[in-house]
Amino acid sequence: MANLVDMTPFEAVTYYFDQACDRLVVRDEIRNLICTPDREVRVEIPVRMDNGDLEVFIGYRIQHNDSRGPYKGGVRYHPEADEEEVRALAALMTWKTALVGIPFGGAKGGVQCDPRKMSSRELQSLTRRFTRSISQIIGVNQDIPAPDVGTNSQTMAWMMSAYAEEHGYSPGVVTGKPLELGGSAGREQATGRGVSLIINEAAKDLGISMDHSKIAIQGFGNVGSWTAQFLSDGGSSVIAVSDVNGGLHNAQGLDLDQLKAHVVRTGSVLDFRDAEAITNDELLEIECDFLVPAALGGAINSRNASKIRARMVVEGANNPVTPAGEAILNDRGVSCLPDLMVNAGGVTVSYFEWVQNIQRFPWDLNRVNGALEEIMVRAYREVQAMVERDNITYRDAAFSIAVGRVAHALELQGLP
Ligand code: GLU
Repeated sequence: MANLVDMTPFEAVTYYFDQACDRLVVRDEIRNLICTPDREVRVEIPVRMDNGDLEVFIGYRIQHNDSRGPYKGGVRYHPEADEEEVRALAALMTWKTALVGIPFGGAKGGVQCDPRKMSSRELQSLTRRFTRSISQIIGVNQDIPAPDVGTNSQTMAWMMSAYAEEHGYSPGVVTGKPLELGGSAGREQATGRGVSLIINEAAKDLGISMDHSKIAIQGFGNVGSWTAQFLSDGGSSVIAVSDVNGGLHNAQGLDLDQLKAHVVRTGSVLDFRDAEAITNDELLEIECDFLVPAALGGAINSRNASKIRARMVVEGANNPVTPAGEAILNDRGVSCLPDLMVNAGGVTVSYFEWVQNIQRFPWDLNRVNGALEEIMVRAYREVQAMVERDNITYRDAAFSIAVGRVAHALELQGLP
């Protein structure tokens, strides 16, 4: 048995991939071909900072697999976005797009920087230079970036513009753009909407009424804040949230509208009235029905998994539960709904955006939300059926479905 505790993020994704291959009896040559990325590009990104210094950032675009369609995945700006992490996230995108059945492969980009400490001019300069450095390997039918941690619709607008300078107007080269530049209705909220749809389905199976459900959410960025909003609108009590600075707890449920206004005003959830201050660690240990880690990887691990008091852990972020953490949760009877299913709403609406760009025909919000719900519920039901039938974890079921689809697509194309 692998040493779960010492696994790097890519080893963790590979561990689940290997287990799925064993279960599906995938032949070795297919397994070896799919496991590692198709292409890894590392670039230097020189940026003239506002103080006059020239700083050189390191960026990556890692294309994992395109058996089912063009490479697809976000770009992360974070001090810890190294090769190893980006590689793991790229592989996860391959499994995510396969699980929800959208015609894309998997990729991820990352730049090692701290966007919170950079001005808008510096970020634009970084983004344009990074886009130029990878412009030969991205494209509407080749590889389509999107936002991730530390990037947003503004970043995508700059990427689209820098790409257009070399290749001409091609809005479908990135997704998650502002509406005015060909973005999709509902893309901004899509990941959080998807997380809340999955929680609704899981609650039905657990016999929990949403009106009486208690939710704790770690992370109040794009995913966490929209998840909180949709669940609260649906009648759940969001009893705890946190951001990088710390967290809040109110057993009666937080007023989300007031909280969002507070965050817009102050830039953080801290010091919100009608709630007690807690640390990020305390948030994870709160008694609740659904705990949604929606911040960074590794939040629930071998050190704290034994203290989790949620009925179910729902991975809003990518890789928030380590394999060692999940083994402990499973032993204690706490199920974990995996990232590749839970947070796939973002890339699903990215797919709708890409379709709208290609067809030059925008959809209205009802159409986007209806199609998103259909895909998310179907993915959940397929995974749930396999969990029941084979008595395996949700993650193992999700990986089995996804890996099976990618392996089959590769077989159909014929190996050399
Ligand atoms: N970064 C998001 C994810 O991890 C979205 C990717 C996309 O829309 O391509 O799923």
